[in-house]
Amino acid sequence: MPKKIGVLNLQGAVREHILSLKKLGADAVAVKKANDFDDLDGLIIPGGESTAIGRLIREHQLEDRLRAFHQEGKAIFGTCAGLILCSTDASHPTEDLRLGFIDMEVERNGFGRQVDSFEMLLDFKGIDHPVESVFIRAPYIKSVGPAVSILSELEGKIVAAEQDNVLVTAYHPELTDDMSVLEYFLNKAG
Ligand code: GLN
Repeated sequence: MPKKIGVLNLQGAVREHILSLKKLGADAVAVKKANDFDDLDGLIIPGGESTAIGRLIREHQLEDRLRAFHQEGKAIFGTCAGLILCSTDASHPTEDLRLGFIDMEVERNGFGRQVDSFEMLLDFKGIDHPVESVFIRAPYIKSVGPAVSILSELEGKIVAAEQDNVLVTAYHPELTDDMSVLEYFLNKAG
């Protein structure tokens, strides 16, 4: 049976994730209601604008469902804005939603607001070749707690990490033909 992966469909790069997941043979669906989550093996929180996605999560009353999904041990992948939402807010207390799924502090727009986007080949622990990584007004991870494994770094800045069932990347793996990071996530799911 193909794995069923939901992509949180409130704002951001939803369609590209669904297309890429389908190419990998997954059953990929856009989700935005609490009961859409019930039969998922994994969930992607996409890139976009973390403030907007967080506000919409609250408006759609999805915060508790997301936290329960995490508690159930289901696989979660936060990309870019999704990474910010999965962080804790220790160094930048904010009213914006932070789910705290990964014990890490994040710098939003960490490569500078003016540096709109760039692409790099980066090593990724557990993948046997450098991975094409697309950064768009990306955050980076400033520090991680002891339970977090660092998977990729760019010039000393952490750009991919995981803790238990949660994976995050500062970049957009759905925007290249290199599917290996999404495949890595699929292996964590289900
Ligand atoms: N800069 C955005 C934010 O802070 C993230 C950008 C992205 O997801 N591509 O939420």
